[in-house]
Formats: sequence, C-alpha cells, structure tokens
Amino acid sequence: MLRPFIDAHVHLNTNTKAKLKLAKEYDAYFISINTDIPFFISLDKQESLIHELNQIENRSFFITSFDIEYWDTEKWIPHALNRIKQGISRGAKGVKIWKNIGMDSRVKDRAGNFVLLDDPRFDPIFQYLSDHNILLINHQGEPRNCWLPLEEMTVDSDRDYFSEHPEYHMYKNQDYPSYEEHIKARDNVLQRYPNLNYVGLHLFSMEWSLDEVAKRLEQFPNSKTDLAERICHVQLQTIENREKVRDFFIKYQDRIIYGTDVIDDGSMNAEEVAAKFQHLWNYHWTYFSTDSWMKAAEFEGTFQGLKLPEEVLYKIFFQNAVETYNLNFPVN
Ligand SMILES: [Zn+2]
Repeated sequence: MLRPFIDAHVHLNTNTKAKLKLAKEYDAYFISINTDIPFFISLDKQESLIHELNQIENRSFFITSFDIEYWDTEKWIPHALNRIKQGISRGAKGVKIWKNIGMDSRVKDRAGNFVLLDDPRFDPIFQYLSDHNILLINHQGEPRNCWLPLEEMTVDSDRDYFSEHPEYHMYKNQDYPSYEEHIKARDNVLQRYPNLNYVGLHLFSMEWSLDEVAKRLEQFPNSKTDLAERICHVQLQTIENREKVRDFFIKYQDRIIYGTDVIDDGSMNAEEVAAKFQHLWNYHWTYFSTDSWMKAAEFEGTFQGLKLPEEVLYKIFFQNAVETYNLNFPVN
C-alpha cells in the first residue's frame, strides 16, 4: 500500500483504538463523513468523537452535515446554515448531504410530495456553499440495484444492505422518486451552481456504468467522485472490458478519490473493524496496483487487476483527497 494514503470515506463513530493503531502502522489518514442517519449517533457526537480520536492519534479529518429539524418552516434554513457554519468553524472539510432527500418520508412538501435535491427550498444552502467556497459532498440516490428486486441485483453487498434496510429498498417503495428522478435532480443542481465544488460520492450513484460517471465529470468541471463502497461494481465491469475501466481511471486520474465506506458504529468490535480496514486496503490496493487475477466476494467470476501507473495511484489514494478536501498535516 502507498505510504501515506487516505481512506477518504469512513464513518468513525466509536472511540476504539485498534483502527488508529492500524492507521499508524499503514501511515493511513481518515476522512470521517458525519451523516444524519437514523441508526447513527447524533451529528454532535460524531463530531466530538473525531476530536477525541485525534487526541489519541492525530489521523482523522471530518465532514460536517445538517439534519432536517424544522423542515419546511421558517426556522429550517437558519438551523441548517448554523450547523454548517458551526461544523466548518470547528475544522470540517466540507458539508455532506445524504440520500434522505427523496428517500425519507419526513422530507416532503405540504401537499405530501417528496422533495428532491433541486427543490428551491435547498437553494439558500447551495448558494451559501458556492459563495463561501465550501465543498459539498453528496450521496444522492442509491445504486441502481436499489430499484430492482433482490434477485436481480448485480452484487451481493447491495442485496445484503437492502434486505437489512427494506425502508431504503426502493423496489418495494414504488411511490417514492425513481432512480432517474434522483439523478436528474442532482444534475439540475450542478447545472444551476457551476461554481459549487462538489464530490459525487459513490461514483455519483452511477456505479453500474463508468460511461455515465464520465459524462458527469465532463459536464461538471468542478465535480469529483469517490469510490466508496462501489469498487465491486467497477470490478464487475472489469470482467467485461478491463481496458475500458483502466482507461477511465487514467483519463480521470485527477478527479477520483479512494475510500472504503467502513462503518465503525459498534456493530463490530475494535479488532474486527481494524481487520476490515486492513483487508479492504490490501485487497483494493492489489486490484488497482497489480495485474493479478482476482475474485470478489460480491459476485461470481474472475477479473484482472488494473495495474495503474504509479502517479495515477498516488493521485487516487492520496493527492486528490488532499487537494479536494484541503487537508493539512498534521491534522488540525
Ligand atoms: Zn458512507
């Protein structure tokens, strides 16, 4: 593995130390993405935990977020903006908007319709971020598999997640916005705010087609993307056409950021979390840096590693995160 490198998409929601010890051993840094998820600890606790972890081993940056308290009242925007300002003033490297927009039945208009990301109620937030040069990182929609029955999904990781979280399995929620509506709403926002610095997490939720990801990177020059939890989808496309996948990474080498999306929320013990990080880091590094024949846990079949040039690996695993998230070392 590259030294140092950055796992730019994690959720460090416990104060266990084994992952920090591992990070030190690998010279790894984390970007912990604070998110308003019902089954996560509160946003305030997520943030104070990062400060606590940094007292032990100074290796974690964080992203702030806001919640939907006071939604659709006059208090909503001041509340959301306050949270953003507070997070940034304490060192957050950007602001996250999660998939609850368009998927949480509490985020609707007064007529009972879902609102999507391009709803004018969000404009003051985008305007503020754009005016103040604050990075927006956005998980919009879900993998396309989310709209398919479990047996038609292309990878087991999606099958597992959506069987555990039927509330987010949109195939079962046909009255919710469609995949295409989510994608369109996000693209509308990027069109409306061309100066907004933006990371389309999880390959812009277009993980099933690197062509579609490439289209967004072309269309929105201020955007970047991350690989979090979607590398198996890239590997699946490698079976079909390795050269094409490899060309994608070379062509967009300045715009792609590595991250695992490991969720450290107490459901695994300290050693299990550390072991998961270690396994994924080594496994992903083998895929990107060698031409070994490999298998993935998420689907049948074998594929060959991409063996990307060294300078491309350096950008994807380190430099792009440093520049995009404006990281400074030592962490502060
Ligand atoms: Zn995540």
